[in-house]
Amino acid sequence: MKYKLITCKSALNKISSFLPYHWDLNIYRGCQHQCVYCFARYSHQYLNDTDFFHNIYIKENIVEELEKKLKSKNWKREVINLGGITDSYQPIEKEQKIMPKILKLLIQYKTPAIISTKSTLILRDIELLKELHQVAGIQIAFTITTLDEELAKKIEPGADSVKMRIKAIKTLKQAGLTVGWHLMPIIPYITGTKNNLTKIFQIGEQCQIDYMITSILNLRGNTRKYFFEFMKNTYPNYHQPLYNLYHNKTKYKEYKTQLYKLLDDLSLKYHINRNYQKYVPKQKEQLSLF
Ligand code: SF4
Repeated sequence: MKYKLITCKSALNKISSFLPYHWDLNIYRGCQHQCVYCFARYSHQYLNDTDFFHNIYIKENIVEELEKKLKSKNWKREVINLGGITDSYQPIEKEQKIMPKILKLLIQYKTPAIISTKSTLILRDIELLKELHQVAGIQIAFTITTLDEELAKKIEPGADSVKMRIKAIKTLKQAGLTVGWHLMPIIPYITGTKNNLTKIFQIGEQCQIDYMITSILNLRGNTRKYFFEFMKNTYPNYHQPLYNLYHNKTKYKEYKTQLYKLLDDLSLKYHINRNYQKYVPKQKEQLSLF
């Protein structure tokens, strides 16, 4: 693993999207979790680097830049998505300890946030998360796509074990925080089995999660090439069926319809809400900062 310090011109990126938040903050470029379906690899091309998983860039001035933005009179305390591209709690964060500084600033400037992660390192900051939840709002989500540890280690090799992630969800919920579950991407035939999905919904209900977001695997850009290479080498039996599915629009559409029907049925059966939007914290412009 190689690390390099870089500087950023701004801590926040404006995202114009259909999503209910419009600001993104990424401390790191590159991600040590190394998920085979990662959609963010493309972002390394802007650094003239091809190794998104092993060359990690650390924005050393991000805290100072964030404070400049938050203290500005123009800042409306809108929701910030912490780690929209790369995981804020990937292993390097353990020594860098940048997230606590960011959370302290958000508390100080009463700015709400969203965090999604595959790392239980987030528990280190639980007291700050609770405080932010009180003063401005925070929504946390864990991504878990399979309950099979062996499979998870192959498709998300750098992430924490599934067991640890489930335990962290419970701890965060017990602390009174809003916690969701990202069941995405669902890989057809592999994590998209009825057995896997049913167990996930069962455990989601046991954990009393606030919502679950589900989505089928989307193979955009280079992700398609990397993903099929992985399948060929690691799960050769699934390679051809998956290749056929992703190269036949009718077949793909049929599969997707059946999958989404199953997800709807499971949501009803296990009382899992799939609408995350009502949990996105709202900006609190009217609050005084002091
Ligand atoms: S956690 Fe997200 S950014 Fe990191 S490798 Fe996995 S998919 Fe990519």
